Amino acid sequence: MMSVPGRSGTRRVALTLLAVVGFAGVFAPRAALGAPASSAVGTSDSSLTASNARNARLRPADDSLRGRSGKLLMRLVTRARATLALPFFARFFGDSAVERPGLYSLPDSILAHPFTFIALRPFTDKQQGRVGPYRIGFWPSERGRLTTDAYENPDGFIEVTPDNMNMQVSEHFRLADFLTHDQHDVWPKYLVLNEDLVDKLELVIDRLQQNGIRVQHMTVMSGFRTPWYNRHGGRVGGRAELSRHMYGDAADVFVDNGRGRMADLNHDGRVDSRDAKVILKAVEQVEREHPELSGGVGVYRATRAHGPFAHIDVRGWRARWGRS
Ligand SMILES: [Zn+2]
Repeated sequence: MMSVPGRSGTRRVALTLLAVVGFAGVFAPRAALGAPASSAVGTSDSSLTASNARNARLRPADDSLRGRSGKLLMRLVTRARATLALPFFARFFGDSAVERPGLYSLPDSILAHPFTFIALRPFTDKQQGRVGPYRIGFWPSERGRLTTDAYENPDGFIEVTPDNMNMQVSEHFRLADFLTHDQHDVWPKYLVLNEDLVDKLELVIDRLQQNGIRVQHMTVMSGFRTPWYNRHGGRVGGRAELSRHMYGDAADVFVDNGRGRMADLNHDGRVDSRDAKVILKAVEQVEREHPELSGGVGVYRATRAHGPFAHIDVRGWRARWGRS
């Protein structure tokens, strides 16, 4: 992990942060960092202190760095696509840092919580279906099969190592939660992950809790699946040739309150697909509130291999299956 070094460096970043707050306030109000009224936009540089910066927290406004849930702890940066995070990232770490893939953490003193920018390995680093020794395979559009936006190749990959795999991407999820379950001894691994998916999962947890349902932990049974794994790997229910799992915007999840499988969410004394429907209901509520996070929900029954679960994605249009 790289981070901004030293105390003077921290102060410099704090000043930069405040400059960015001002910048965002003028040019991108919906993407603004939330600065409390007492803090520093308009304050002269000489009066700024580290504690001013500590107060300049991110706010859970729509499309803020911390997402709609206010619980994101990372943002992806890539040259290929103009992202919300890119200008912030460039101001903190320099224009050319985006060419150096890796994790760039802000010191806790800046935002009072960890926050990491992730510069992606470009998609073109995949050669003959691999990045380094890690086998990934080929996306449908590489095979000339599909050209709609939703099935374009990903922009790039998060490089995951034993050192960074436990990084929190949000309040409830780590990088490792979304890795393809294969090639156990091969490192680094490569991950495609859509921030909107993580944001939506956090909103679903929130909504479940507002509905009075206890959520100790939400387990991701399956997150990203490399195209290679999607074709050849393991035993995973619901695998489809155009699986959203290959695009990093889908997760198969259950609420685990300590038993390692779905909890009895509807308190009917049984653990079955009706508990997955409790998750479906929460997703419906989240999508009503945030139509831009619309996507698929699939409800799955238990099999010998796994308990009941819900598939959730952010494909961009509504889809439902498995509700009968
Ligand atoms: Zn799924």
